[in-house]
Amino acid sequence: MQPPVEPFKIKVVEPVKIPSEERRREAIREAGFNTFLLLSEDVFIDLLTDSGTAAMSDNQWAGMMIGDEAYAGSKNFYNLEKAVQDVLGYKHLVPTHQGRGAEHLMFQHLVKDGQIVPRNMYFTTSKLHVEIPGGKMVDSIIDEAHDPENLHPFKGNMDFNKLQTYIDDYGLEKIAFVSVEMNVNMAGGQPVSMENLRKLREFCDDYKLKIIYDATRSSENAYFIREREKGYEDTPIIEILREMMSYSHGSVYSSKKDCLVNIGGFLATNDKEIYEATRNMVVVYEGLHTYGGMAGRDMEAVARGLREGAEYDYLKYRVNQVRYLGELLMKANVPIVKPTGGHAIFLNALKFLPHLTREQWPAQTLAGAIYEDSAVRSMERGAVSKGRDKETGENIFPPLELVRLTIPRRVYTNTHIEYTAKSIVNLYEKRDNIPGLEMVYEPKYLRFFQARFEQIK
Ligand SMILES: *Cc1c(COP(=O)(O)O)cnc(C)c1O
Repeated sequence: MQPPVEPFKIKVVEPVKIPSEERRREAIREAGFNTFLLLSEDVFIDLLTDSGTAAMSDNQWAGMMIGDEAYAGSKNFYNLEKAVQDVLGYKHLVPTHQGRGAEHLMFQHLVKDGQIVPRNMYFTTSKLHVEIPGGKMVDSIIDEAHDPENLHPFKGNMDFNKLQTYIDDYGLEKIAFVSVEMNVNMAGGQPVSMENLRKLREFCDDYKLKIIYDATRSSENAYFIREREKGYEDTPIIEILREMMSYSHGSVYSSKKDCLVNIGGFLATNDKEIYEATRNMVVVYEGLHTYGGMAGRDMEAVARGLREGAEYDYLKYRVNQVRYLGELLMKANVPIVKPTGGHAIFLNALKFLPHLTREQWPAQTLAGAIYEDSAVRSMERGAVSKGRDKETGENIFPPLELVRLTIPRRVYTNTHIEYTAKSIVNLYEKRDNIPGLEMVYEPKYLRFFQARFEQIK
């Protein structure tokens, strides 16, 4: 494919440089082979995450200048509320400092000790915020999602048989609510179809179960619905988004992804009870209900970014830039999760480094090797991220052991994408010589952020 043409031009630049081979070797060892512990200065192309790394538009920067920093009733809150109503169709908004703030409020309100939360697939902070009030998150994604080669167009879909089994096994009163993540991050940025959302609502209505979305990547999900689902070929993205949200009782949302900003989050709902409870809790944990941990200027940037991030031309470029990287890698037979998702390319570390055992952390190893080779920073998404079983304390080895190359929004040019692809293809050709890792430090919570490793001799 041709590289996608950017629907913008560049007004400000930030210089980056490639550190020497010697410095890269030293830096990854200083970081304990954990790319989260690398210094940003040592990184040339930073594909660690798409979270809070977007380039804002001139329109958003202009919005920052009209930040109304009143403690209460900032006009930017009302602009954000209006944007959420227009783009997502929810009436009520509770702002939070970022996505996990919204998860904290929503899940503390909805989850009781001993309950479970079925969700297409877990996400790290979401899982933890279900566990803190004593709940457990259980996966109910279709089986196709666990197969990196399967070309199903909506690998994020919920499996209703799995959901039924949880209800039968645990009993209805043990289900706190049903959660659906849009463009499922841990499955490779794979979308959920409108049909699946519509049917899920019917299914849950029969049991009077509430549905809460993790709508963080809903705009990119909406793009895939338009691209792949019959009947939506010409539907405006905002109409798709509003229909998606109409099948839920509320959403938690990290603005740091599809809203094209560097910080922020919120929860949104049409459910009066959820709204009242979380609006009350927000003053305890985040800030007053008209700022929730964000500055006025940040809320303005989110409001404008939510609208910009739902523009068709932008989304088309965005999704195709990710696809472009995927195609360059596939052309050289590098094993990646297919089809390519919305925000990242996921390398299949089990196939990239078949000489390593699961206990040698293949994805962690690969992320370190990519950095050392090319100063491109990626992230492990496999057993280190998954953590240990809460009851047995054993490591969980999920079927997918991946390295995520996450593309920040509007930040890197197609030449940067080509550099990245070329380096990974080179590394793939000398992959047999890459030694595995041993974990030498393991923190208790979200260990992937701070764990340290050493190379096995
Ligand atoms: C990033 C993310 C979160 C957490 O949001 P933060 O803004 O990082 O706190 C929750 N769910 C999903 C799917 C995410 O990608």
